[in-house]
Amino acid sequence: GMIVPDKKVDSVCPYCGVGCLLTYNVKDNKILHVEGRNGIANKGRLCVKGRYGFDYIHSPERLTVPLIRRDDVPKTALLDFDPGKPFEIFREATWDEALDFAAEGLKKIIAKDGKYALAGLGSAKGSNEEAYIFQKLIRTGFQTNNVDHCTRLCHASSVTAMLEGFGSGAVSNPMADVQKADVIIIIGANPTVNHPVGATWMKNAIKNGTKLILMDPRGSEMKRHAAQHVQFKPSSDVALLNAMMHVIVTEGLTDKEFIETRTEDFLTLKEHLQDYSPEVMSPICGVSAEQIRDVARMYANANNAMILWGMGISQHVHGTDNARCLISLCMITGQIGRDGTGLHPLRGQNNVQGASDVGLIPMVFPDYQPVTLEENQDRFRKLWNVEALDDKPGITTVEMMNAAYDGIIKGMYVEGENPAMSDPDVLHAREAMAKLEHFVVQDLFLTETAFYADVVLPAAANPEKTGTYSNSDRAVQMGRQAINPPGEAKQDWWIIQEIAKRLGLDWNYQGPKDIFNEMRQAMDSIAGITWERLENESVTYPCENEGDAGEPVIFKKDFPTVSGKVKLVPADIVSPDEQPDEEYPFVLITGRQLEHWHTGSMTRRATVLDSLEPEPWISVNMSDALKLGLEDGDILKLETRRGELQAKIKVSDNSPVGTVFMPFCYFEAAANVLTNAALDPAAKIAEVKYCAVKLSAV
Ligand code: SF4
Repeated sequence: GMIVPDKKVDSVCPYCGVGCLLTYNVKDNKILHVEGRNGIANKGRLCVKGRYGFDYIHSPERLTVPLIRRDDVPKTALLDFDPGKPFEIFREATWDEALDFAAEGLKKIIAKDGKYALAGLGSAKGSNEEAYIFQKLIRTGFQTNNVDHCTRLCHASSVTAMLEGFGSGAVSNPMADVQKADVIIIIGANPTVNHPVGATWMKNAIKNGTKLILMDPRGSEMKRHAAQHVQFKPSSDVALLNAMMHVIVTEGLTDKEFIETRTEDFLTLKEHLQDYSPEVMSPICGVSAEQIRDVARMYANANNAMILWGMGISQHVHGTDNARCLISLCMITGQIGRDGTGLHPLRGQNNVQGASDVGLIPMVFPDYQPVTLEENQDRFRKLWNVEALDDKPGITTVEMMNAAYDGIIKGMYVEGENPAMSDPDVLHAREAMAKLEHFVVQDLFLTETAFYADVVLPAAANPEKTGTYSNSDRAVQMGRQAINPPGEAKQDWWIIQEIAKRLGLDWNYQGPKDIFNEMRQAMDSIAGITWERLENESVTYPCENEGDAGEPVIFKKDFPTVSGKVKLVPADIVSPDEQPDEEYPFVLITGRQLEHWHTGSMTRRATVLDSLEPEPWISVNMSDALKLGLEDGDILKLETRRGELQAKIKVSDNSPVGTVFMPFCYFEAAANVLTNAALDPAAKIAEVKYCAVKLSAV
């Protein structure tokens, strides 16, 4: 018969930034099934990951005891890696032994090589409270700002452009606002795959008359629903967006009053755009001048129009420039500050917005307060009760691995991230991790990263802990503990606090609520949100005073800049770091797929998801496959200047001729072996959306 749950626990989906609320149905400390709940972002809906992607928590590969590396096991390449056999590499340890060992190793490095020899990576999958105390540990325990997380490889460039332009890194309007828009632009994003419930709101809107302009070098399922699919050449974003703005300015389609009252430097932008006529840009973008004119008019003439974008915009050496163009496009047409308008960078991880907000980034304290400003130094010295804080911005994710490779960083603490799969040019990153003298890894599984660790601390999964998460819409939501962690695995906040104590910090948090209350003192944006309120409802910040309703739509009157206006920043065309040539004639684009999440550490251990998509694949255009003499399912070899791999071909016209696509979640064919680590100079995000690749039949 049907198994009846003995309790139902309301929580938040652990996967994407849509932030669907759900209910865990629990019996005997096991989750039986998951249901969608009436959340502000999902109204009962869930995608395949949220509904079926939960049984990773019951995987036999879960870490249940602390582990210390055996002395005789070298940190070599991952050749014989078997996550199911941790005891070939590690021995079991007690918590006391493992925590002492972890902290002693860190202290030794500070004593020997100084504090700048340490760095930490926190997690966008953990709660706000965990991210907050992790960055506090690095800033007050390691005593530097060498702390970052995967936002660096996600929307760092979008946030850089937004902070520069209008003083805020958050979205202006929630995703579901697409239903109030007449026109939506989706550029460099595949929401059906990466924000699936968000995509259902987009399709509902389109059915009710909203026009979609899909701008992407690749095709996707969304193209069936698009009024226009602008299939531009990979990496030609700036040329295309400048050409659209050229049309808007020369045809008088700007919002003159908005420009006059709410923007700065329009004349410089206007002059800059003169060189970017659609006719001149057309061959660069591979889009007809006529289509550029059509979509520019559609967007500018709409009563309400919204722009949503993803990693296709951000993950380039010109990612910040791409985002600058989107901001200018929105501002010169006054498409912001009302329902159904604005800018929405689609956040990847469930808590990448929150982890960034609470300061898990090297240049700013919580709430984006620069570490360099004396007033911020003062505020946090007082709040954290320490004599000194470093006022030098720390180094970023990819820079940390480069510094480890060069022997400058000698010790790291990685909590819940998997750089051995997610870093660009990942063979280089793995070598860097193998060189670390002391490496502390905290995770659910013996991830590819944990393989390089000296000590592994077993952590708790999302349904095993309570905490708050902030979704892509800026909504702060409560996740609740439904079951207990397996074996001796512990909640992250507890582990981080134990490390802090061993580094001499006087911490005494009793749980996430204590930490949240301290966060409210550190961050004006959430100062008005009480823990008790979150137990009953989601609250969208800014919410500075108790009783404030929260603000799903912002920038109605002014922007959080000194002048209250937006700074319009012109962008030039910058070439990708690596261009196709005779030896490497194709372009490789990497990304995600519906059934798997990022590096696959959770979803590949979720039975249903792994059964749906069990193996790596490479999307290739039919005509390119024919030229190689290959059919659907044949094995293809990909080779770049950095590495090679093999996987099956999936023939698809979503890949334009000359371009291939591959998801990066598969250990056995890790796409990041191929990718380029060249960085956007402003945001330090890597160009994982574009590199030159050679294809050959095997
Ligand atoms: Fe989870 Fe995102 Fe799917 Fe919602 S859309 S169920 S948040 S993965």
